[in-house]
Amino acid sequence: TTTPAARPLKISVFGTGYLGATHAVAMAELGFEVVGVDVDQAKVDALAAGKVPFFEPGLPELLEKTLATGRLTFTTDAAAAVADADVHFVCVGTPQQRTSHAANLQYVEDATLAIARNLTRGGVIVGKSTVPVGTAARLRELVAATVPAGVDAELLWNPEFLREGKAVGDTLHPDRIVLGGVSEKSEAVMRQVYAAPIAEGSPVVVTDLPTAELVKVSANAFLATKISFINAIAGVCEAAGADVTVLADALGHDVRIGRQFLDAGLGFGGGCLPKDIRALMHRSKELGANRAAALLQQVDEINMGQRERVVDMALEACGGSVLNKRVGVLGAAFKPLTDDVRDSPALNVAAALHLRGAQVTVFDPEAGDTARRAFPTLGYGTSVDEAVEECDVLLVLTEWKQFVDADPARLAGLTRTPRVIDARGKLSAAQWRAAGWEFTGLGRLAA
Ligand code: NAD
Repeated sequence: TTTPAARPLKISVFGTGYLGATHAVAMAELGFEVVGVDVDQAKVDALAAGKVPFFEPGLPELLEKTLATGRLTFTTDAAAAVADADVHFVCVGTPQQRTSHAANLQYVEDATLAIARNLTRGGVIVGKSTVPVGTAARLRELVAATVPAGVDAELLWNPEFLREGKAVGDTLHPDRIVLGGVSEKSEAVMRQVYAAPIAEGSPVVVTDLPTAELVKVSANAFLATKISFINAIAGVCEAAGADVTVLADALGHDVRIGRQFLDAGLGFGGGCLPKDIRALMHRSKELGANRAAALLQQVDEINMGQRERVVDMALEACGGSVLNKRVGVLGAAFKPLTDDVRDSPALNVAAALHLRGAQVTVFDPEAGDTARRAFPTLGYGTSVDEAVEECDVLLVLTEWKQFVDADPARLAGLTRTPRVIDARGKLSAAQWRAAGWEFTGLGRLAA
């Protein structure tokens, strides 16, 4: 049973990247006193000054609002942050290792140890980062071996499902709250933390540590599989003269299938799906679950193949070579409504064409700066027009609304040759063709 706390819970959030910054702000919005902790001084300084160091709709406004209440602070001082809080969220990165498909768990270990070492009274450590199954049990042992004598610490797992671009809404109104490895006491604490979304109807799934860890990676693996499925079917459509966009709409009417994640195109990217399916592939093999590994291997291969396919389409459109051709690229972010370019299919395609001697001009409404840092040798424009100007072929690689809504008739006049490759299946082929464009799309009918 829940004993109402004498004072409101205090929360520390370790890692203030896409996940942690959003989580810290959301927790403050829910009324808790929150301290965000990061090892990156620049990030901490920016957030403390009210600047979100990445693009996330709605987050700057909410950061400003919650900072003004005095409930939200940011620091690099782990000891001070831990000493003052009751609940400690681990939101640090778990990127793919450079030399294998496995996840790099160094940051999660460091953050968990920093919390355990600095606990001065009882506390709940809540893992939110996406980790391979088995990690939480190991961390629990580390915590037990690290906490000062007499301190009562618990570790549980509460995976995060937020989507970049919709992170604020997803955090305040989660589709479900998964709690792995709770005791009666820590479950009560977590129900207090999430009292608002629970009151709104967010379902709570209470389970063990491995199930909680696996729910997260399985959700991502399923979404990735859905995308690779439709991309494989797009290949059949092309060979058979069928149209995958119409097919996807028709499939989507079946409630068992649903229309989301059925857009054939350049495939998935970003800081989560690719590394999460690879980590699950790796972990499945370690556990001897070879069927899952084989399935995910196909999903990954289909996905990466789409990038090559779009490069080939661009080469073909330019008569077999892009050497000294001008290629306009619309989109750098891995999806719209973010400036995240981690494992971005758009930038991979742009870079591959640059490598083949094309003069590439990329435009993205939000991801110009992050893209330039990741791929400094590509050319960047500051508007759609700058990317389109004098191009021999135009590639639409991220489905930002302003690209989908662009006027093909006006743009046609800016090009050297009005030739477009719609790698996201969002443009109206009829409208672009009527405006004089040679139009190619993945899995769609030729003119
Ligand atoms: P990120 O790289 O944007 O942020 C990670 C942050 O952790 C960085 O600011 C880094 O400086 C900080 N950090 C590293 N070591 C630290 C330490 N010892 N103490 C304090 N801070 C430390 O990553 P992200 O996208 O926010 O992802 C974080 C985790 O959340 C990953 O496991 C990811 O898979 C998962 N996740 C991400 C999303 C998403 O949409 N980005 C969604 C769900 C889950």
